[in-house]
Amino acid sequence: MDKLNDPSLLKCHSYINGQWHPSDTQIAVTNPATNEVIGYVSDAGISDVELAIDAAKVAFKTWSAHTAAERANLMRKWFDLLIANQQDLATILTLEQGKPLAEAKAEIAYGAAYIEWFAEEGKRIYGDTIPAPANDKRIVVIKQPVGVVASITPWNFPNAMIARKAAAALAAGCTFVGRPASQTPLSALAMAELAERAGIPSGVFNIVVDDDAKGIGQVLTQHPDIAKFTFTGSTQVGRQLIAQCASTVKKVSMELGGNAPFIVFDDADIDAAVQGAIAAKYRNAGQTCVCANRIFVHDSILEEFTHKFSKTVSKLTIGNGLHESTHIGPMISTKAVADVDNLVNASVILGAKVTLGGSVAKQGSHFYQPTVLTNVTNDMPIAKEEIFGPVSAIISFTDEDEVINMANDTEYGLAAYFYARDIGRVWRVSEALQYGMIGINEGIISNAAAPFGGVKQSGIGREGSKYGLDDYLEIKYLCIGGI
Ligand code: ADP
Repeated sequence: MDKLNDPSLLKCHSYINGQWHPSDTQIAVTNPATNEVIGYVSDAGISDVELAIDAAKVAFKTWSAHTAAERANLMRKWFDLLIANQQDLATILTLEQGKPLAEAKAEIAYGAAYIEWFAEEGKRIYGDTIPAPANDKRIVVIKQPVGVVASITPWNFPNAMIARKAAAALAAGCTFVGRPASQTPLSALAMAELAERAGIPSGVFNIVVDDDAKGIGQVLTQHPDIAKFTFTGSTQVGRQLIAQCASTVKKVSMELGGNAPFIVFDDADIDAAVQGAIAAKYRNAGQTCVCANRIFVHDSILEEFTHKFSKTVSKLTIGNGLHESTHIGPMISTKAVADVDNLVNASVILGAKVTLGGSVAKQGSHFYQPTVLTNVTNDMPIAKEEIFGPVSAIISFTDEDEVINMANDTEYGLAAYFYARDIGRVWRVSEALQYGMIGINEGIISNAAAPFGGVKQSGIGREGSKYGLDDYLEIKYLCIGGI
């Protein structure tokens, strides 16, 4: 870690009530590109999580009583520090998660943008006055923070997934207990260090690192002092956590899995579609929930698209994310590599053709070759499951209704993409796709001003945009009589 300008950003204990909490056991954090241990972090226990919840409960009283402008000023300082330390934060992120440094820097800016956005948006938590049914009454609606918020986040965006949740929570006046993925705790702890430097008061933003997701998950979903639980991860785990939240009727927000269709119609700009598909598929080595999972191409342009696309994919360089030339970093684990390889092999047995790649890369057991499969059908495992790796599955189609039916034939409904120029088609397809977010002639769609979230089994709630605060606010109706 001698690469850091400020090595004090590297923290090794949970951050609870403004203090760093050591413990007797340690979690080793490894660099997926090299398999080297880059640091050890204290493994918190249930009692530490309870301490964090208690602290957040106490801090809620004062934090929620701050004016929105006071909260915004502190959050703005946090944002400024995140941006000032972007290079170090990106280095930490690449070391523990593997993505190319340029992508890590982009993630730091993206995560910070939510803190900036919600700091401002917190000043616009407006209520309502409603005409009353009688002259001696008035109806007023105010909005108030829900209380203590708990979050569990995954390893694929170790900074931004926390930032998206904590920014909205803090701006609304809530306090926060976050549990990052144990593979990538260092980014979360560096955020906590900068929150402290920004002057965010003790107990408002807590990060608890542990290796017992299930045990900590039980506490965060069932503790009576937690008002809201927010999760980003797989649909399978999300379902369990929603069920756990039922016992105390918590508010929940869920950002779950996806199976994004990426449709290239015959009137598309093919070169733009190739670039969009590369961005939507190979970012973070294909390990994002909005990655293009099924690439549907009209049969009249199939050959041209596949040729241009495969040629571009063949130029992607695999390697350590710290090397400037790297486009495709390591996958998070050898299990993740094996899962992707199994999906590829299962589809090949059913008739898919490997046009490019198709196996573990020579760079090491954590790396998978950027792969293009053709002859894929919508019922193959590679089209049914979330690939979460650098593999493109190309499926041909002949007409609009057919491709819309295929695109919607999934339990997921997070992101979808399509390329077309005909304005009637753009509207028809946008309205027919059962997804929460649609990229039209665009492969990268997420930003702080836009509502991120899914329909069907891809989630509940939205992160970012003016809608993002709603999940952290209660509506209170005041009926004033005797006027
Ligand atoms: P991914 O494949 O992206 O890791 P998961 O849904 O398995 O998706 O994990 C997302 C986050 O949820 C991670 O931080 C993980 O440690 C945590 N997690 C996994 N299983 C559980 C569980 N049963 N209860 C609480 N958290 C869990």
